[in-house]
Amino acid sequence: MPQKILIIEDEKELADILGEYLKVEGFEVKICNDGKAGLDYFRAEQASLVLLDIMLPVMDGIAVCREIRNESDVPVIMVSAKSGEMDKVVSLGIGADDYVTKPFSPLELVARVKAQLRRYEGNNGKQKETPGERIRLGVLTLCPGSYEAYIEDQSLNLTTKEFEILLLFAKAPGQVFSKSQIYEQVWGYDGICDDNSVTVYINRIREKLKKQGCAYIKTVWGAGYKLSTEA
Ligand code: CA
Repeated sequence: MPQKILIIEDEKELADILGEYLKVEGFEVKICNDGKAGLDYFRAEQASLVLLDIMLPVMDGIAVCREIRNESDVPVIMVSAKSGEMDKVVSLGIGADDYVTKPFSPLELVARVKAQLRRYEGNNGKQKETPGERIRLGVLTLCPGSYEAYIEDQSLNLTTKEFEILLLFAKAPGQVFSKSQIYEQVWGYDGICDDNSVTVYINRIREKLKKQGCAYIKTVWGAGYKLSTEA
């Protein structure tokens, strides 16, 4: 059965163009033109991935994303007209997996859709293989099977992306990762490096660690970041 992409977008022409590109790649496509219709459709019919505009009639994309995240972990790619809106999406931690800012090329978006689907399928497979795996570093514990991270027994409440970044560090303590390496490994799309989103995510993780009195993510000036349990 083809994978179904749900496009929630009120610019009908743009939605149709994206739909055509995705159909050529073998995807089934459903287009909804307002946030509520999109959410209703998702609840009734599900989808393999959601492309979600932010500025939408009836219900905005941020609210739609939150609702979807309460019910499902399918990949969500946010689409926005203004780059400033994306900072909001990231800083609110609403759980989107990736985002693009208009104007973008349909081919770039198709590549990101495929990357997210690969990552999602890969993660689900891995989770089944190692449900009980634990990574422990100092007071930090990561459980890749459940995407939970703890400082002592206090949950850090990380979003999926935040967890994946911390897991990348934790698997290679002391190793320095550049922003583009982090982007490549976590977002899974190696064509474009979005430095800004990496920085925003790192800051979010640091804030959450700091609340528990932990400062394991170090900046290595001019090179990137590393995880170190040393003060
Ligand atoms: Ca719109």
